[in-house]
Parts: sequence; C-alpha cells; structure tokens
Amino acid sequence: MADYSSIKGCMILRPNGYAIWQMIQKSLDKTFCDIGVENVYMPLLIPENLLNKEKDHIEGFAPEVAWVTHGGKEKLNEKLCIRPTSETLFCEHYKSIISSYRDLPKTYNQWCNVVRWEKNTRPFLRTSEFLWQEGHTVHENLEQAHEMTLKMLNLYKDFFKNYLALPAITGKKTDNEKFAGAIETYSLESLMLDGQALQVGTSHNFGDNFARAFDIKFSDKNNKLKYVFQTSFGVSTRLIGAIIMTHGDDNGLVLPPKIAPIQVIIIPINFFKDKNILEKSYKISDDLNSIGLRNKIDVSEKSPGWKFNEYELRGVPLRLEIGPNDIKNNKILISRRDNSKKYNIAIRDAYKIKDIVEEMQREMFLKAEKFLTENISYAENIDEFKEILKNKSGFIKSSWCSNSDCEKFVKDNFNITPRCIEFKNNLINREKISKCIICGEESNDNVFWARAY
Ligand SMILES: [Zn+2]
Repeated sequence: MADYSSIKGCMILRPNGYAIWQMIQKSLDKTFCDIGVENVYMPLLIPENLLNKEKDHIEGFAPEVAWVTHGGKEKLNEKLCIRPTSETLFCEHYKSIISSYRDLPKTYNQWCNVVRWEKNTRPFLRTSEFLWQEGHTVHENLEQAHEMTLKMLNLYKDFFKNYLALPAITGKKTDNEKFAGAIETYSLESLMLDGQALQVGTSHNFGDNFARAFDIKFSDKNNKLKYVFQTSFGVSTRLIGAIIMTHGDDNGLVLPPKIAPIQVIIIPINFFKDKNILEKSYKISDDLNSIGLRNKIDVSEKSPGWKFNEYELRGVPLRLEIGPNDIKNNKILISRRDNSKKYNIAIRDAYKIKDIVEEMQREMFLKAEKFLTENISYAENIDEFKEILKNKSGFIKSSWCSNSDCEKFVKDNFNITPRCIEFKNNLINREKISKCIICGEESNDNVFWARAY
C-alpha cells in the first residue's frame, strides 16, 4: 500500500493504498456536494506575514512549519511557508470576495496535500506530508458557525459509519487540545484494535478570531458593518490507517466493501483446460457490473492458492471461485474476507452477491462498534481510574472540573490524554457527571481519556 521515500516522514502511496484514498475522496466529495460544499484550490505557499496574522494560529503551527527561503539561487525577500493548513489563505481570499450578507454563507473545501514537520512519524498515522480535505466556511453570526461545526462533525460520523464501517466517539476538545486559533474544536475519536485511540476527524468553530485578524467584514441587512464567523473541518489519509487498524487481522487488510477499490475478485480455476470457465467468469463479471459491484477477474498464470493469499492480504471483501465442478453444477462459491463465511449460490443468482456485500458492510460496523463500546470504562474516582489503567486499554470516562491543572496532572502522571469532552445528552445512569477525579471539585463535564496515536 505504501513505501518509504528518501525523506523521513514522507510516504509513497502505492497503487493499492492510493486507490483506497481515491474511493474515500470520491464518496466523501459526493457527500459534501450534496449539502452544497464547493471545491476550490489554494496555493501551496503562504507568505510569512500572512501566516503570522492570527497569533494563536502561528504559535500553534510554528514548530512544525517547513519554509521556502530561496527561488533558484536567489534568497527570497520574504520566507514562504509550505501550507500546514490553509486558514490564512482562505481568510485573505474571503476578505476580497465578501462584502455583503448576500455573499454569505460560503462553504468552500479543498482537496490537497499539507506539510507538518513531524519528529516522530508513522506510515498513514503521522506523516510529514499527507493528503487531506480542508473545508472552510463563513457565516453571518456565531450561532450559524456553531451549527455548521456540529453539522460537519455529524456528517463525518455518518460517513465513517456508512462507508468505512468505523465507529467513533464524538465530543469537544479541552481548551489545551483545541485547534490553534479556534474557539472550540470537536473531534471524532476511534479505537484501534491495540486499544489506542486515533483522532480521525476534526471540526472547528473559529468564532470571529480570524475575521478580526484578517479584517473580514460584511454589511448586514441593516447596512451595519460586522465581522464574519468561520469554521473549518478536515480528514486525511490517516483514515486509511484507521481502516487498517480497525478491521485488519493476521492475514492482512480487511476493507469495508463501500470503499474497497475491488469489491469482488473472481478467480477462475483451471480455466486454461476449459474455456467455458472463462466465458462464465466474464458473464458473471458483467452481471456484477450491471448491479454496480466493482470486480476483477484474475486471469494471470499464478496459482489459485497464490491468488487467494494475495487478495486476502489486500483485503478484497469477497472472493468468487469458479472451477470445472462449479460449472457442472451451475454454482459459484463466495467467501467473505472478514469472517471466512462461505456462500454457495447458483450462477444465475449472481445478483444476490449485492446482498452479501451489504450484509458484510453492516456487520463490520457492528463488530467494530461492539469492540469500541466494550472498551469504554468508567472511573468514578482516582483509584478506579488507576485500576482500569492497569488492567484495560481503550477509553476511560471520568468527570473533570474543567481546570487545566487537573488535566495536566493526568497527562503527566498517567501518560494519557483527554480525547474529548462527552456531549451531555449522551449521559446515562452511573455515568452522570460527578466530582472531578483529581481535585474532588464539582464538575460540569465527563471526559474520555486514552493513550492515542
Ligand atoms: Zn479537578
């Protein structure tokens, strides 16, 4: 799926890996398009003065920015940064195109690469250059921006469920963990099979922070000049890492059918002895095409055993075998990649494979959701917290007083971070908000803690 390049932290996406990204991109882009998001493209380079305009933003990103200092042999008058994210470019552009309430809202998105000079890198999970989408929206008031932030958070949650079979906890980041320049950040946190959390998506409300720094104003219906309110949201190639580590097993990748580049691999057996087998294989392939299932017939000279292993490793959801006996009986054998379940179906019933694909997609999500739910523990006090840390991995939920000293205490002493603050309408029974597990003060929130990538 990927290879290392000569630059540390920069990954080569090979055909099998890139095809998955393209599937994610295509499906998510359609989802965006359905709610009116428009795609644009911003430059790769950001002048230093532009990046410096919003104070928190530059402070947050400065340690990991890569700079261009020369054009050919000449030193540039002003350093140019390679975008770590594009808020500043969007702001500059929005300032020039927005003047009236009639210009709002703006819901732009761009698909691009970004560079963040990371010290510790890991393929797919943390790379210095990665591919992502960044949405940037502009609104008339804070309520609309807040609404948009939550709308995109929920859109991601549904998309992860329906396409990636990936369950995620959603909630708000603590002030220490929020995006540089945002007034609030919401995140989606999923749980990998090794028990570590992975942040798989974020949605930020900027309030008018960037608007004030970049002087983006509009005249409202009463002809009064006001600052705009903004949001941004993004997911990256890290999602491929999430898929690998949520669904994979000892035999390799297991792809959720919705985003599998090949959904059904057709393996004709002993086809060189009986041309009927190939003919039937092409007929089945046509049938699958007609019901919209992405499929491929492997007619290479490699042995069936080699092919079985290869497509298993690549995570192709369904394998369809067809050999001399199957032709005689007018049957085909289907195997599911995720649970090895086998289905014998009549060749003329090939359309039924669509049901198997849908069942597999559903069951993969349910399995992952069960794993997530079983690995959320609740700690009412610090002793319970320590006990869980010793014996279990996954998320620990506990009450927290909102004080950053208590947050820091947990981080420093237990090597664990607050992933997000739970939405209050999710609270149940015993897990209602009680006292902060560190200082014992009354609390307003429950926090999900976890070791994370
Ligand atoms: Zn506390």
